Amino acid sequence: MNASEFIARTSGLTKSYGSDDNAVHALSDVTVGFRTGEFTAVMGPSGSGKSTLMHILAGLDSATSGSVHLGSTDITRLKDDELTLLRRRRIGFVFQAFNLVPTLDVRSNILLPFDLDGRKPTADESAWIDRLLDILELTPRVTHRPHELSGGQQQRVAIARALASRPELIFADEPTGNLDSRTGREVLTLLSAASRDFGQSIAMVTHDPVAASYADRVLILADGRIVRELGHSSAEEISRIMLSLERAA
Ligand code: ADP
Ligand code: MG
Repeated sequence: MNASEFIARTSGLTKSYGSDDNAVHALSDVTVGFRTGEFTAVMGPSGSGKSTLMHILAGLDSATSGSVHLGSTDITRLKDDELTLLRRRRIGFVFQAFNLVPTLDVRSNILLPFDLDGRKPTADESAWIDRLLDILELTPRVTHRPHELSGGQQQRVAIARALASRPELIFADEPTGNLDSRTGREVLTLLSAASRDFGQSIAMVTHDPVAASYADRVLILADGRIVRELGHSSAEEISRIMLSLERAA
């Protein structure tokens, strides 16, 4: 594969937890690329390694062996502070634990990536943040703190924060998991617009074939390996393939 096509890629990536007889092989020899500007869905049964793959790609967990590149940088070779900077400047995250700061209100949580980077949003970015707050129905909540919000609202704050600075790469782990279907569709539409209109690259874990049908490409993991790769597909087609893989397993 042509490396420059990919904003994130792994080669021979293996991740084991524990050692010897008790070792759990979360990822086994995964070689995969996420194309620049593409919206990729990652699917697979529970325990297949989806979250582990996202965490390692985002530099939040280390590989046991193999390499992980973001652009031309091998992140397995970066020092901690270099990795922190790269994450801060180039990556947005929406993870299952929303990682909101409990002492900050909604607006401050969303502005956190800017604060950490020591800058203020530009006028254009402020307008975009207001639009995100509006679309995600958070405008009446901007002065609330996370504990005053429902799980779905917290999830939407995490999504707004990940999109606020328009990072080139976004990792989302079940971003619609806690949302009702209408809000879930809004979020999926936002993510596909982020890749289509702003050229952002998105890797989204989901178990929902409808969510995956918004993506340009679908990767399917099973037992720590990539077992299937599809182009943009309908929810029906994705369901059918997931079922056939389960039967074969
Ligand atoms: P998924 O997100 O697809 O449900 P995960 O990536 O969370 O799967 O987990 C893959 C495998 O690795 C599972 O067997 C899980 O139990 C194991 N695993 C994940 N994190 C840890 C950890 N910190 N310690 C031990 N085992 C882990
Ligand atoms: Mg998971």
